[in-house]
Amino acid sequence: MGKALIIGCGGVASVAIHKCCQNSEAFEEICIASRTKRKCDELKAKLDGGKTKISTAQVDANSVEELVALIEKFQPDVVLNLALPYQDLTIMDACLATKTHYVDTANYEPEDTAKFEYKWQWAYKERYEKAGITALLGSGFDPGVTGVFSAYALKHHFDEINYIDILDCNAGDHGYPFATNFNPEINIREVSAKGSYWEDGKWVETEPMEIKRVYNFPEIGPKDMYLLHHEELESLGINIPGIRRIRFFMTFGQSYLTHLKCLENVGMTSIEPIEFEGKKIVPLQFLKAVLPDPASLGPRTKGKTNIGCIFRGKKDGKDKTYYLYNVCDHQECYKEVGSQAISYTTGVPAMIGAMLVMNGTWKGPGVKNIEEFDPDPFMEALNKWGLPWKESFDPEMVD
Ligand code: NDP
Repeated sequence: MGKALIIGCGGVASVAIHKCCQNSEAFEEICIASRTKRKCDELKAKLDGGKTKISTAQVDANSVEELVALIEKFQPDVVLNLALPYQDLTIMDACLATKTHYVDTANYEPEDTAKFEYKWQWAYKERYEKAGITALLGSGFDPGVTGVFSAYALKHHFDEINYIDILDCNAGDHGYPFATNFNPEINIREVSAKGSYWEDGKWVETEPMEIKRVYNFPEIGPKDMYLLHHEELESLGINIPGIRRIRFFMTFGQSYLTHLKCLENVGMTSIEPIEFEGKKIVPLQFLKAVLPDPASLGPRTKGKTNIGCIFRGKKDGKDKTYYLYNVCDHQECYKEVGSQAISYTTGVPAMIGAMLVMNGTWKGPGVKNIEEFDPDPFMEALNKWGLPWKESFDPEMVD
């Protein structure tokens, strides 16, 4: 039993908060704190009446001072950061100052550059160790479950993993010609950045969307997928011994790519501020304001997601392949918690990570990526809390 402070009240947070309330045995009390308190109050009104006690608060997560005051007042056992990657460091600072465990789902991003690197957060390692608190980084699906899958494969199926391909397929259709399934700013920054993969101890860079493959996804069928840089490649490259190559592929439909190219060509995806009517605006932030709110896609999105990892390595001296994945249905998620599968597949692991850190199942002071912990309790919790996983010992491989 414990108390969690959840920061942010967007798509992912809404699912995590629903799940905390379903899991009232672990989450006795939660405080939902975000920039717009109205959203926190609306969610509280929907979920009140269950066993989990809910309170709400307004907080600017860019202000360490405000965060520290809130943590001192609420006294949580863990802070679950579901705001944006820009706020990771201020929230980590506030956790450090108050000696409170920290959990997030995405690595820190400076507003002016899209780097997808852990270096800023890893720099807190020693300070977290000294304070005797844990920071669990990347407890969403990817990063998150993909790291847990890797640790599980290594623990139970391989002596050595040499190749990992992470495949993220969203076969959901929301009926709009162009919309993003989670925060548009974060999503577009990710897909318009150069691609890269980790091979023989170094990064190999590609042009955006340069490498394309077609993969026949279980329960979905063949889809085009493209190689992207993704943040877990960096930590898995270090934490999985014997690794020679890790790649990340995500599926995109033709309509999405055509729109994105056009938006890029006219400068709308830029994060460089421009002068507009006497005011500085960031084109990508303006674009976010005119695109459909990801939270509004829930009722419209039909179809499934399939996200997982294909491993190739050695067991008892023999070559072995192994595929671990989860299939999630957009409409089923919507029925259960009022959100589509992208928020669902991130919000459920966020709740599980917070639970395992809060109840001490995962302990060890310092700043850790998810694959550094014992994967078994997390794998069990995925089956229990709505993201059951499947495995194949003879998967189609990606060339
Ligand atoms: P949303 O934009 O829907 O929600 C973000 C929330 O954070 C909003 O409630 C917003 O408030 C709040 N917020 C933003 N800035 C501040 C601030 N300064 N102070 C307080 N609150 C703030 O994003 P998502 O829910 O889609 O994404 C949440 C996180 O999850 C992101 O970091 C994203 O990168 C990550 N993610 C991780 C995935 C994974 O698999 N690992 C997959 C998908 C997302 P307001 O309502 O006022 O705007």
